[in-house]
Amino acid sequence: MSRTVLVTGGTGLVGKAIEAVISEKQSKDERWIFVGSKDADLTNINSSRALFEKHKPTHVIHLAAMVGGLYHNMGNNLDFLRKNMQMNDNVLLLCHEHKAKAVSCLSTCIFPDKTPYPIDETMIHSGPPHDSNYGYSYAKRLIDITNRAYHDQHGDLFTSVVPCNVFGPFDNFTPGVSHVIPGMIHRLHEIMYLKDPEKQQDEKVFPVYGTGKPLRQFIFSEDLAKLIIWVLRSYDSVSPIILSVDEEAEVSIAQLAESIAKSFEFKGKLIFDDSYADGQYKKTASNAKLRKLRPDFRFTDFDAAIQRTVDWYLKNYDQARK
Ligand code: NAP
Ligand code: GDP
Repeated sequence: MSRTVLVTGGTGLVGKAIEAVISEKQSKDERWIFVGSKDADLTNINSSRALFEKHKPTHVIHLAAMVGGLYHNMGNNLDFLRKNMQMNDNVLLLCHEHKAKAVSCLSTCIFPDKTPYPIDETMIHSGPPHDSNYGYSYAKRLIDITNRAYHDQHGDLFTSVVPCNVFGPFDNFTPGVSHVIPGMIHRLHEIMYLKDPEKQQDEKVFPVYGTGKPLRQFIFSEDLAKLIIWVLRSYDSVSPIILSVDEEAEVSIAQLAESIAKSFEFKGKLIFDDSYADGQYKKTASNAKLRKLRPDFRFTDFDAAIQRTVDWYLKNYDQARK
């Protein structure tokens, strides 16, 4: 049977990566439609309903969300809560009405703050999230609850994936809004090429926000895209699945800064500005469930993926979201 796959948030970091993977290897039984906020405001039920009526999806990858890094979350918990709850409620209701399979996106940053490690899929609701992003976290946790309720009451197949911190081409590099990788890329580029032109490169200083000690797992958007496509086609359980690199691939913010500096061939000095918050110290997630189902999957080497992201930013500087 042929499928119509609607990707909400199709113009963002993850959506663009899925589009790139699909365009390389198309299936003749699938029609893919990628939409952004210009196509429909998913916080509005009438606009959302018109979108679903237009495309009549059989499958939905629901990526659309208000998304941001630590500092954006800290000041906007109410907006993160309400906008994401509204979008998720509208999209899942319409998936139900259209009898579509839904794959929605949670995040490893919604897990409890005080928790044993590594965290796994059974622990999403086991305690309050970190104070910095409780709005985003509770809105995302409700997707899992909603999925279960639609399944229990109506038999719908709604599931969710739980990625760790994502990066790659088409990320949001906007200062104050972005996650750490696009944030650092944007700032280092400014320091090297736009600020203090009178200074030699080896005299320049790159301030990393926070102590540099927090640990994070990062997944390249292309790897995540391949895994989400696999979930859409082959994973038929309501239970969430963590899509993360291995625990051993976790890096400190300081190691990340060094990798980005190396990709830019930065010759100056890195310093740590601990007047900025560190956020949660770590969120180490287990990908054992994924590894069991996809033992064959190979993640892109971290430094190579950082280099590809920096190269993309330099090449697409004018169009990049910043
Ligand atoms: P992104 O680059 O910021 O893209 C967000 C997408 O949502 C864009 O396509 C945007 O459309 C769309 N959108 C926002 N508000 C909308 C609205 N009111 N109506 C319709 N569309 C709207 O985000 P991303 O990083 O790709 O994130 C994709 C998913 O992964 C999200 O659910 C996010 O929570 C999850 N996730 C992300 C990370 C990460 O590190 N980035 C980590 C874990 C999970 P426009 O382009 O038109 O604005
Ligand atoms: P999180 O992983 O959900 O906490 O969000 P981020 O992707 O924003 O990462 C936040 C971590 O990176 C914190 O430990 C910050 O102190 C650190 N960090 C260092 N430099 C930056 C930066 O330029 N932007 C952001 N967002 N975080 C930074």
